[in-house]
Amino acid sequence: MSLITCAFCKGKGKDPFNLLSELATCQVCGGKGKVEVKEPAIGCAYCKGTGVYPHGSRITCTVCNGKGMVTVKGATEKCPRCKGTGQEIESGLSCIKCGGKGVVRKKEEA
Ligand SMILES: [Zn+2]
Ligand SMILES: [Zn+2]
Ligand SMILES: [Zn+2]
Repeated sequence: MSLITCAFCKGKGKDPFNLLSELATCQVCGGKGKVEVKEPAIGCAYCKGTGVYPHGSRITCTVCNGKGMVTVKGATEKCPRCKGTGQEIESGLSCIKCGGKGVVRKKEEA
């Protein structure tokens, strides 16, 4: 595990959109400003590492849960379906092949 700055609140520990009140704590890090991710982790392709759901609705990214980083295991390569964007081209939903991470497990060389 490693401790990273919470992407959703940018480490401030406060709800970045003031949905409840100005003093509301960030729902992702619980106000700590830091979140734990399992290594190895990469920047979330779906939200581009912002932790915010990319289609406007002021909610946490459904792929990284607001952390801005996602855990990937083993060797990976760019997802051929979404070309690394993490999004379905037509719907904008998270890619069904890579789950929004933008990378897929690299095929073992034969
Ligand atoms: Zn936070
Ligand atoms: Zn994300
Ligand atoms: Zn994909």
